[in-house]
Amino acid sequence: MQDQFLENLWKVAQGSWSSGVLPSQESLSRARSSIPTKLPAAGASLESVQQHIVNDIVPAFNGGSLSPNYYGFITGGVTPAALFADNIVSTYDQNVQVHLPNHSIVTDVEYHALGLLADLFNLDRSQWHNGTFTTGATASNILGLACGREFVLQKAAERKGCVMGSVGEHGLFEVLQALDLSGVQVLSTLPHSSVVKAAGILGIGRTNVRNICRADNPLQFDMVALEKELARTDKVSIISVSCGEVNTGRFATSGMEQLSQLRKLCDQYGAWLHADGAFGIFARILDDSPEFATIKKGSEGIELLDSITGDGHKLLNVPYDCGFFFSRHPDLAACVFQNANAAYLTGGATDGPSIPSPLNIGIENSRRFRALPVYASLLCYGRDGYRDMLERQIRLARAIYEWIFDSPAYTALPQTNSKVDLVDQTFMSVLFRAKDDTLNEQLASKINATSRMFVSGSSWDGAPATRIAISNWRVDVNRDAALVTDVLAQVAQL
Ligand SMILES: *Cc1c(COP(=O)(O)O)cnc(C)c1O
Repeated sequence: MQDQFLENLWKVAQGSWSSGVLPSQESLSRARSSIPTKLPAAGASLESVQQHIVNDIVPAFNGGSLSPNYYGFITGGVTPAALFADNIVSTYDQNVQVHLPNHSIVTDVEYHALGLLADLFNLDRSQWHNGTFTTGATASNILGLACGREFVLQKAAERKGCVMGSVGEHGLFEVLQALDLSGVQVLSTLPHSSVVKAAGILGIGRTNVRNICRADNPLQFDMVALEKELARTDKVSIISVSCGEVNTGRFATSGMEQLSQLRKLCDQYGAWLHADGAFGIFARILDDSPEFATIKKGSEGIELLDSITGDGHKLLNVPYDCGFFFSRHPDLAACVFQNANAAYLTGGATDGPSIPSPLNIGIENSRRFRALPVYASLLCYGRDGYRDMLERQIRLARAIYEWIFDSPAYTALPQTNSKVDLVDQTFMSVLFRAKDDTLNEQLASKINATSRMFVSGSSWDGAPATRIAISNWRVDVNRDAALVTDVLAQVAQL
């Protein structure tokens, strides 16, 4: 019965994306007017509620995850293995909150899923098998900056010879006052908006996230200015490396040498080194072929960092919501996130690895078993399967960029005279604009109005730009390159 229902739903889903990446205005209005504006006193039958959702609500969804031609945001899709596991998660509704090894296997699975992810990204388990699953990269960035805030203030206390408790215990204000500091700052280059949001949540303040970039390249650190900021005696610093910038898909660093330099500076000044690798960490899956050498270098050396953010619901192609957080400092998260005074929530001992209770190292107490789709998809595809998926995504982005570079109607961004260089630096994101200003103003909406593909409007160098972000497991390079270039030609009336 349940199987039949899911089977039918899947068929509806297939239909909704093959008919366009956006719902029709008619479907949207129908769905909107079908939503009751008041809670009914008496409930309806399960069957009628199912019919309402399938017939009225679902047709007004977009093809975000199901269509291989939805290139807005970075949505990813859902692999069949992940979809299967996610249905199990809802059906059995396990709460992954406390490690209770004699009551359920769920914390073991979550712990090992994190280990499999570390393997996928070539992170040495002896150093990196710490962290947790989160609701997404935003939450992971909150964890990274929170651990960083704790760490840099502990280091400042050591330097000043103070005995100081944690921020988690005493609050940021008291700790800063005791150390005679005016604040914590986050130093980055073109950080994702969620890093700024994390700073707002954590009492660091959004204005204290600062771009310390080179004049000739906004994505790379100005190392002289960076050291000057780290050396300040009135503030403590966290560095957030943009391991994959959201507009261009490019990387803030290009290899081990730069990362070693950053590591050295952070050790010298007691700073924390975090990477926002929401999608960029996936470059570590690539092999050593020359085709992908430049991209692979962008994520090289992040094993030297203190913490890393990654997203599950983007390139890993598991369903919303899922992110992950790696830390090289196993005991630090508990200083911030410990769930105080609840002795009944501590786990029992086992012979296996010591698995911390999730509620003491992350934001939530009760949590979804979001590690199971990750576990299932990793077992199903393995490293080779994920590499193949990523290679198809990169090759599609490159094919589109080459067409745009040669096109009389469009400009590839960031602007360059070298097609070889452009292709070489392309990960899974294509940024461009129309040469004609009037067309450029409406470019994203004109493309989306075709309903054959969906793109995000963005801005670059102070003018509108359009971004095609490729993240779906269903990518077929030839089929999709033909569709995208056909739509771009049609919109520019080529
Ligand atoms: C998407 C993204 C985020 C935010 O991730 P969510 O999963 O939406 O919370 C953070 N950083 C980067 C680089 C991203 O691409």
